Formats: sequence, structure tokens, C-alpha cells
Amino acid sequence: MIYEAVIGLEIHVQLKTRTKMFTSAPYAYGAPPNTLTDAVVLGLPGTLPVLNHHAIEQCAKLGLMLGCEIAEVCKWDRKNYFYPDSPKNYQLTQNEQPLCLGGRVEIELPGPSRNVEGEHRWVALNRIHLEEDPGKLTHEAFDTLIDFNRAGVPLAEIVTEPDLYSPTEAVAFLNALRNCIVHAGISDCDMEKGQLRCDANVSLRPAGSEALGTRTEMKNLNSISNVKAAIEYEIERQTDLLEAGESISQETRRWDVESGTSFSLRSKEEAHDYRYFPDPDLMPVQMDRARVAELGAELPERPLETQRRYQQDFGLPYTITSVLCVNRELSEFFEAALETYEAPKAIANYITNDLLRELSAASEHGDSALSVSQCPLTPAHVATLAKIIDAGVISRQIGKEVFIDMFRTGEMPEAIVEKKGLKQSNDTGQIEALCREAIANNEKAVNQYKDGNEKAINALKGPVMKATKGKANPAMLDQLLKQLIDEG
Ligand code: ADP
Ligand code: MG
Repeated sequence: MIYEAVIGLEIHVQLKTRTKMFTSAPYAYGAPPNTLTDAVVLGLPGTLPVLNHHAIEQCAKLGLMLGCEIAEVCKWDRKNYFYPDSPKNYQLTQNEQPLCLGGRVEIELPGPSRNVEGEHRWVALNRIHLEEDPGKLTHEAFDTLIDFNRAGVPLAEIVTEPDLYSPTEAVAFLNALRNCIVHAGISDCDMEKGQLRCDANVSLRPAGSEALGTRTEMKNLNSISNVKAAIEYEIERQTDLLEAGESISQETRRWDVESGTSFSLRSKEEAHDYRYFPDPDLMPVQMDRARVAELGAELPERPLETQRRYQQDFGLPYTITSVLCVNRELSEFFEAALETYEAPKAIANYITNDLLRELSAASEHGDSALSVSQCPLTPAHVATLAKIIDAGVISRQIGKEVFIDMFRTGEMPEAIVEKKGLKQSNDTGQIEALCREAIANNEKAVNQYKDGNEKAINALKGPVMKATKGKANPAMLDQLLKQLIDEG
């Protein structure tokens, strides 16, 4: 029997807000344990929740970014459970009426090689709801430590339909989702800081069948490679069971990174186990349609749409756009540069090659310039560099040097060219003399050229470039050499 895997993901994303979901206690990653709490977070008797308006807006933006319908009204339910990470003994969540409904995410599957664009596909979402993060438990040899700093942080839970069919698709989905969220400034999605966590539901069914098989759920996968490994392992485990004629039990499993295996945690709880009921302390939230429209208008273009636009409008190759468009800082830098000088190919090349190379070299040297906004280079620098090259002031070769200089000093390219005397030489007399010398010194290359080998001419350019320290105008040089040989 051939089986097909079906995967549905539940992704928790910490929303970027200053304060928590139901209280003004602040949140920051890495603060000393239990310093970011208050009576509400600790669930002390008599406290009441107060809704964080900004968190609602962040989640609505997330929904709009992912093409969800924003509910007219959403409301709060208590999910009751006893566990030390939640002092109230319930979690506030949206069970019956979530804020965002439906939605879909465009993904790109890996192409035949890194440099070739893969197939695109839309993955359906079921809903996005808001809830509060529980505290963090750290299990030590004989103790469990509890840190409530994280308790009450606004979380958006994104629930996909069972619409992913391989570990590779799940990885492509998470990458696309993360790019969209980071782009819109909704969360930084740093998985190492727990800002994005994923639960993976996996089932198998006979290939070609429509009905869904029994699923298991892997909890709290905290890196994309763990998601991939856990799903791969689970597909193998279930295949073995089914092939041995056994059945799959619906259960929650924990992925163990060390051993690369998962083990059963508990049999799957049902909704009624949580005794959901509407929270009596929080009013339902009526979403202001005008405000929702405003939020939608503020959103940036989705990264894959930007990429498509750059390919169509500017004819940029996939290898460039796939780098330029996943990072909003880079695509904004690119577009700002185009406003100064419209040379999309040259500018995109400088950003994705030279700029990224210099940024990573700078961070290796321990400089502070790690990101585009921190380095002294502006879009005007890069645009002007492209412009003076097109105008023939300097050669492309010299441009590479000027770029490094601009990056380090923040000086404009004209100033660097002036100071270092880098202007391209159009002095025909001097260059002609050097060309004649090169022709006289390399009879072999001249003959090869005469025999129809166009490339042989390059051997003659070297000495001229060397004598002019790279300043001879390459187009002029090419023309002059050919002319002199032809006249010969
Ligand atoms: P629950 O509320 O019990 O967590 P949901 O119906 O909300 O269950 O589904 C949770 C996640 O599990 C969703 O992402 C959904 O796509 C996925 N899922 C549901 N059934 C299956 C299945 N048979 N195989 C794979 N994934 C599934
Ligand atoms: Mg669930």
C-alpha cells in the first residue's frame, strides 16, 4: 500500500506589543525570571483583565496579511486546565468566535536547484485566534522552575487546514509565513526566542483516498529543522504501524531533539476536556470596519508578490529577487535607490552582492554595522555609483573599489573618485599609444583575433588596463584595439 501524508500546522506567534494581552505589565525577552509580572499575570484573586488594544490590531493585521476575513465580533473563552505554567488554572483564548477566519498563504516549493525558482502553491488556513502565552517551565534534575515573565504575552495562533503533504511543504510554508509576518512588523518570529512555535499534526491515508486518517500531534517544535525532522520521523513511524496491520492512536507526542525520536505524552484531549466557556470578565470585541480598512491599507506587499513584480517589471533574475525580496530592509533600500537613478539591474546587483558581502564582513570583524540601517551606506550612494558608471566617469571594475570605500567611509562616490583620482581615462592619444604597444608585444593574440577568435582581444586589454591603473574606458579600449588591428 502506498500512503500519502497529510499535515496540518498550528503556529503560535508572539505579537510585537509593549505590554501583555490583559494587563500593562511589560514584556521583554531575556529579563531576569519573574520580574515582568503583576497581580493579573499571577492570577491573584480579585484581579480583572483589561484588553490590549494594540494586540487586537496586530492580530487583525496578521489576518489581513494572510487574506483572512476579519470577524465582525470576536470573543473570549476560558480554556480550563490545571498546570503550573498557568496560575489562573485557565487560559484566555478565542474558541468559538476567533478574530480571523479562513485565509491562505502562498508558498514556494524548492526548485530543481537553489538557483531555479520552484513551483508556487496556496495553502489554506482555517483561522487565526488570539490567546495568552503561559509561563515557561524549566525542568531540572529534581526541580521544575517557573518563570511567569512570558505568562500573558499576546499570542496569535494560526491554524492551517490539513493542506500540507510532505515535510518539505511544511518547511516551505513556515518560511513563507515567517517572511510575511516579519515583513508586516507583526512579530520578529525569532524561533530561538520562542517568538514562533509550531505544533505539527500528521496522519497518513492510502494514496488517492479523500478521507483523513487518524492524526497525532507533535508539540512545541522550536526550530524549522525540528519541524521537518519530527514530521519525517512520524511519517515513518505511522507507516511502520499501518504496514504491520496496527492502528494509529490519536495522541499528543513530544519530539526529543537529542535522540531524534518522539514519544507519546498523552492521549489527545477533546474540546470538552477543557470545559470552554465565555469569559465573564471580558466583553466581546466589536471590530470597527473603518479601522480594519485602515490597517489593511498600511500593510506592505507580500514578499512573493514583490518578487513577482521585480521579475516582471525590472526583468531581475530569480537568484537576485529571492535574496532581495525576503528582507524588507533590502527591498525598500532598492526602491529608494531607484528613485534617485533608475538602473534596477545594477542597483539590485550591488545590494545583493556587494552590500551583503560587506555587511557580513563587517559583522565578522565585530563592527556594529550588521544591518542595512546601521551601515553608513544610503540608497543615494548606490544609485549615484550606478549613475557615474553609466555616464562613463569610472569603469565597472573601479566601481567595485569605490563601493567598498563608500561602505566604510560613507562618502559619496564622486568625492571618492575625485580624491583618489579614479576618473576613467578617455585620453585617446595616451590609450592609443598603449594599444599599439600591446599589439606589437603580443603577436600571438593578434593572429588569433584575426583568425576569428574574438576573445583573444582580451589578452591585449590587460597591459593597457595595467598601465592606466584600470582607468581606460573599456568600451573605447575594445573599439580602439579592433580598429588598430583591422587597419593593421
Ligand atoms: P484541535 O482543536 O483538536 O486541535 P483542530 O480540528 O482544530 O483540532 O485541528 C488542529 C490541527 O490539526 C489543524 O491544523 C488541522 O489542519 C490539523 N488536522 C486535523 N485533522 C488532521 C488529520 N487527520 N491529519 C493531519 N492534520 C490534521
Ligand atoms: Mg489545537
